[in-house]
Amino acid sequence: MDRLSLFHPVTSIADLAANGPTIYQSANGVRMQNAAGRDVIDMGAGLWCVNIGYGRGELADAAADAMRNLSYQHLFGGASCEATILLADRILTLFRNRANAPHMARVFFGTSGSDANDTALKLVRYYNNMRGLPAKKKIISRLGAYHGVTLASGSLTGIAAYHKAFDLPIEGVLHTSCPHYYGGSENGESEAAFTERMVADLEAMIKREGPDTVAAFIAEPVIGTGGVVLPPENYFQRVQEVLDRHDILLIADEVITGFGRTGQWFGTGTYGLRPDIVSLAKGLTSAYFPMSANVVSERIWSVLEDTSAQMGAFMHGFTYSGHPVGSAVAMANIDIIEQEGMVENAAALAPRLLSALQERLGENPYIGDIRGVGLMAAVEFVADRETRRPFAPGTNPHRLVARLATEQGVLTRALPYLTVNSFSPPLSITASEIDEAIDRYAQAVALATPQLAALDAS
Ligand code: PMP
Repeated sequence: MDRLSLFHPVTSIADLAANGPTIYQSANGVRMQNAAGRDVIDMGAGLWCVNIGYGRGELADAAADAMRNLSYQHLFGGASCEATILLADRILTLFRNRANAPHMARVFFGTSGSDANDTALKLVRYYNNMRGLPAKKKIISRLGAYHGVTLASGSLTGIAAYHKAFDLPIEGVLHTSCPHYYGGSENGESEAAFTERMVADLEAMIKREGPDTVAAFIAEPVIGTGGVVLPPENYFQRVQEVLDRHDILLIADEVITGFGRTGQWFGTGTYGLRPDIVSLAKGLTSAYFPMSANVVSERIWSVLEDTSAQMGAFMHGFTYSGHPVGSAVAMANIDIIEQEGMVENAAALAPRLLSALQERLGENPYIGDIRGVGLMAAVEFVADRETRRPFAPGTNPHRLVARLATEQGVLTRALPYLTVNSFSPPLSITASEIDEAIDRYAQAVALATPQLAALDAS
């Protein structure tokens, strides 16, 4: 029935036709049960999103209560509701107190990471139109970035596979270098020198295009889908200087890094960012309800406020912006993150995840790099560790390992830009669950290694 009725996102139609779907029945904590009754540890937290783990009754209760009380309320024309007001205030308080970002001023709600980035892009246009700078509109993203799949957010995404045959990117979106030190550094370049080269690339692009035409730079604090690319030493500090020099806004896409993933509440705090607009989704509700948010800075908000009489209503917003059920679910989710110390748990277990991966896999001839921050880690495959030579295009060693890992009872993701398996478990995971998961993953790598040798030879 799946094959005859469902049209799957980000799935090979040919593979699905040949192999059929993998159906999951239920999940609790970090563990899922597939249709065959196999216990599987989800080291991906779904798509980096189930931060508190599966099956929390508190969120089900919050949703049920909200549905019974006020099942829907829009925010158009000044209408509002308590749960959404409280949530906006709570997000601002978290940014101010836990991310060292006292300049954040208001919160706007949507339903997905993609639409949050579309909203960010429209806000940037609006802001510069209101400032009398209609030519200042281009957005610079990065190769390897993932920002979503709509026409605008899919354009911001810097992974060619998401553009192919969709006529993307749209005009006005540019991609600068991916700051991936392991894969991109040249001739023994130090990390600091690599950062300088990345930042010089960015500034050269701005100058080439004309600073008067460049409005914003968008970045994930840690690139997720593009391969768990950690910012190299001092990267965001140096980028911020360039942006300040040319009056360019910073959009922080915290769809993955928000709500504890990096071992702090937000990547903004972890890396000392000073964003003008932040996009949030995933961990906001731990994916129990589709919900996203944009947090905007005082400098954006004051322009919107000052031009409001002249412009009339701000004509952007969704039917589900600030949905009361989503807001109640998000509040219950943030309660659990706070009360159970999940951000602290992510920070405390980060070294355990990395050391487990390093101890079990550090000697494998096809694993070149193991890296991570908080509960976000990557294993990167190369054909030759000495030269860092990649596997031939299309051989996909990481897909083979991920498939074998699923058979061993652990989910990892095979990413589409670098040959990386990623790990981003629920922040509720325990040390022994990490050990068990990495044990299963290491067994999959051991099974795959002879096949990887054959892949390289092919
Ligand atoms: N930004 C980032 C950093 C993401 O990781 C994702 C989703 N993987 C998105 C945006 C898009 O979110 P959604 O799939 O909810 O549209």
